[in-house]
Amino acid sequence: MRLKIITFVLILVYVLVSCGKSRDIHKDTPSEYRAKCFVVKIPYKNSSMEENMYLLYDENSKYAVIIDPGAVSMPMEDFILAKSLKVRAILNTHGHYDHIGANGYYKEKYSCQVYGNRGDMDFYEDDEPYNMPTKFISGDSKLEFGNIKIRVICTPGHSMGGTCFLAGDFLFSGDTLFKKSIGRTWEYDGKTAEEMKDMLVTNITDKILRLPETTVVFPGHGDATSIDEEKYHNPFL
Ligand SMILES: [Zn+2]
Repeated sequence: MRLKIITFVLILVYVLVSCGKSRDIHKDTPSEYRAKCFVVKIPYKNSSMEENMYLLYDENSKYAVIIDPGAVSMPMEDFILAKSLKVRAILNTHGHYDHIGANGYYKEKYSCQVYGNRGDMDFYEDDEPYNMPTKFISGDSKLEFGNIKIRVICTPGHSMGGTCFLAGDFLFSGDTLFKKSIGRTWEYDGKTAEEMKDMLVTNITDKILRLPETTVVFPGHGDATSIDEEKYHNPFL
């Protein structure tokens, strides 16, 4: 019994520590915006997966957007409160469960719209209805939330709705591009996993690697990187 209690306490401490991890990523970056990464543990399917949820904000207007809320993060909520930020939108880089799990929770909490790509409707329909986007992206476009201007770059391959968001010198790449890696691909709608990978690599090469080399890349999992770094050192490209 005592062992069970100790094990439970240890697991609880681990979960709290994992969910509390955050990385401040505005220092020494040339962007006009600021961003903070909150690493969340995905409480689903007994997974021990971690995902990077981002808060992109403008220090002057206090406007903010949440990118890929995979799970609820108390440290992020505390930060929003402490900074008096006004959350204007939630953006999804794609519709996989580990990137959308707290869409509904934050949509209610901050009374804002959720933007997702129509290409991932299958995944959204498989998830809880309250995580469904309220606005749909269906091609390269622009979004504006007060002073925050975002270029929407569609990069299907990891999923058909794969999308990157560019704000100033920050690129939020979801599971399209990682540090020294790219997103996994699967067979989809008559296309083989290899064909989906070719599509992903073409999109990264044509649309992402052409961005300025100083662009900082914030992926959905793992460490941040840069266009410069990935252009010359990513073995998949
Ligand atoms: Zn994914």
